Amino acid sequence: MLKQERAFPKLLPQLVSIYFCVCSLLSKRCQIKDSLSPPPHLFHQVRRYQVLVSLMLSSQTRDQVTSAALQRLRAHGCTVDNIVNTDDDTLGQLIYPVGFWRTKVKYLKQTSVILQREFRGDIPNTVEGLVRLPGVGPKMAHLAMDIAWHQVSGIGVDTHVHRISNRLGWTRGGTKNPEETRKALEDWLPRDLWSEINWLLVGFGQQVCLPVNPLCSVCLNQHSCPSPSGINFFSRDTIFGPNFCGPHLFC
Ligand code: SF4
Repeated sequence: MLKQERAFPKLLPQLVSIYFCVCSLLSKRCQIKDSLSPPPHLFHQVRRYQVLVSLMLSSQTRDQVTSAALQRLRAHGCTVDNIVNTDDDTLGQLIYPVGFWRTKVKYLKQTSVILQREFRGDIPNTVEGLVRLPGVGPKMAHLAMDIAWHQVSGIGVDTHVHRISNRLGWTRGGTKNPEETRKALEDWLPRDLWSEINWLLVGFGQQVCLPVNPLCSVCLNQHSCPSPSGINFFSRDTIFGPNFCGPHLFC
């Protein structure tokens, strides 16, 4: 039997629980996500560029801060040519206070110059091409393929997806970094859900399964979560017994 056929039915209740947790936050999140998305009337090429810019700005930055920086950039003129012609100080003032804004100014300028010279102002349409751009890693590349090109090439794994997948035991034996997590998830998660899993787990990780002190007492997965922090109001052994070692997804 395929790994997908064995593991997925066992994980479905946890996924549904996460979906319900996140749905209650959905309208607020949609408002923020709408402000991160490029306006629909934009020329396709400019729209794709703005998707990439928004992904570059959003790493290590709260959505509200990214959204405000994007609005300032759009008012200034967020096109490849305009960003190439904008001096670093002005660009810094426009995107401040996004995380690592000085480094992002450098990457935005370098990336825009490459797009202007080698891609006629568009963004690459492959993961391999995208990860060659300064400041663009695999997570950003897969999300850009999905949002900008409407092609699901892989799961976008950030710190939330990496952490929660390991806490819930969705990665066989645990993974050490987001790339390992991406491969482990793609091994069993149906391809139809690859696009959804990112925003579901990011929302869940920002609101419930926090990096420190996760809100396990309100989590609908509290009784199936094998993480040591999964039950923070009773001893884990009291609930599962001393020999419990996880949900046994792969046996
Ligand atoms: S029980 Fe706690 S650690 Fe487990 S998924 Fe829920 S919030 Fe995260």
